[in-house]
Amino acid sequence: MAATIIDGKTIAANLRKTIAAEVAGLNAKHGLKPGLAVVLVGQNPASEVYVRSKSKAVVEAGMMPIDHKLPETTSEKDLLALIGKLNADPAVSGILVQLPLPPQIDSQKVIAAIDPAKDVDGFHPVNVGRLSSGLSSLVPCTPFGSVLLAKTVKPSLAGLDAVVIGRSNIVGKPVAQLLLAENATVTVAHSKTRDLPGLCRRADILVAAIGRPEFVKADWIKPGATVIDVGINRVAGEGGKNRIVGDVAYDEAAKVAGAITPVPGGVGPMTIACLILNTLKAACAQNGLPEPQFQD
Ligand code: NAD
Repeated sequence: MAATIIDGKTIAANLRKTIAAEVAGLNAKHGLKPGLAVVLVGQNPASEVYVRSKSKAVVEAGMMPIDHKLPETTSEKDLLALIGKLNADPAVSGILVQLPLPPQIDSQKVIAAIDPAKDVDGFHPVNVGRLSSGLSSLVPCTPFGSVLLAKTVKPSLAGLDAVVIGRSNIVGKPVAQLLLAENATVTVAHSKTRDLPGLCRRADILVAAIGRPEFVKADWIKPGATVIDVGINRVAGEGGKNRIVGDVAYDEAAKVAGAITPVPGGVGPMTIACLILNTLKAACAQNGLPEPQFQD
């Protein structure tokens, strides 16, 4: 039987609509308009595209975009001073510093300078620690979106075997923590893992966050498994045009999996939807309002 295609584009669009309705309600009731500050240093073309789509999503959700574009030559001191101002500004609910930063700036120092209550990327050590301690926290957006997608086809992940391929701080590790919080039995695989195909074949939930085009093959997948493909890889396509593929060999994997996310149109759109959701959550917490509960 062909796999269910987990349509991240539609799921993300619906989530964004729900968030927009919630924001409109908060605005009417409490005069609250969440603000997201996005800081971009330099002119990395990929970062510029991401920042533009983030700002567009912020406006569509009825929130306030607060964009700061700084020159490539910005010093660490100046960036830290801006973060300090944004931390103190009550109009700013969330702060996102687009990575990577130029080499004169220590990214870890910058992340640590963001108020954890405004850290909508969920990268601050306090939020990382809270997530791994099972406490409520702002959770990194791509991992958050990945688990929300898995739950659209498997509402309870309790007791399921989950394998996460990749142990990065921004995807693999937080995905593993979130799956653990959902009571899955989680194994994290990485570049030194032995017999990766054999390990993957045990997974009811397989999350691929590797950064290698079509690396995971059909015969690594347990029949009926849910496959969440986080990878975004540009490869040469027909006519010299680049195309985007995931970390999973989609066409063959879709014949074995029970459900699978496509690339593009799977995890990618959920990342921005979850950023908007985190901004809403941060705004509610900062104003003493209950956390919105609709994401499940
Ligand atoms: P990363 O390079 O930081 O980490 C890759 C991980 O894969 C590492 O932990 C490494 O151990 C593991 N790995 C590498 N080669 C391996 C191998 N041969 N066998 C097993 N494991 C191996 O990458 P990342 O930042 O975690 O991103 C992973 C992928 O997700 C990339 O394609 C990236 O573009 C994509 N991504 C997508 C989104 C999104 O919004 N959809 C967001 C972030 C990252």
